[in-house]
Amino acid sequence: MLLIDCPYCGTREESEFSCGGEAHIARPLAENTLSDQAFADYLFLRDNPKGMFLERWRHAAGCRRWFNMVRDTVTHEIVEIYPMGSLPKSKAGKAAYAESWRRDTAAEAAAQPPKTKKARAKKDQG
Ligand SMILES: [Zn+2]
Repeated sequence: MLLIDCPYCGTREESEFSCGGEAHIARPLAENTLSDQAFADYLFLRDNPKGMFLERWRHAAGCRRWFNMVRDTVTHEIVEIYPMGSLPKSKAGKAAYAESWRRDTAAEAAAQPPKTKKARAKKDQG
């Protein structure tokens, strides 16, 4: 059994938590030009690596809050726990984030808001 450090409640047994699967899956904006295949890949494909993995967890039987975790799926070592909406700070977490196949997908690019005219003009100026 894992002992998980909830960032809000402290260390608790794994049975109090539920795993929400892969972390850092960016949702494409409503206005996008993704192909059906690219959207299906975003929607259905999930990583299941042997080694470092970035996961979402929820303290279901506690504060019910979500957080992210860097965990080795072979040794079950928890390398880092960090808040939702932020990126891992540990070396292993950064490497796992950068190496994910998702970083180069059309869905990931379609999750970024389009640059506004003002931002484009500012960039063109210098
Ligand atoms: Zn908690």
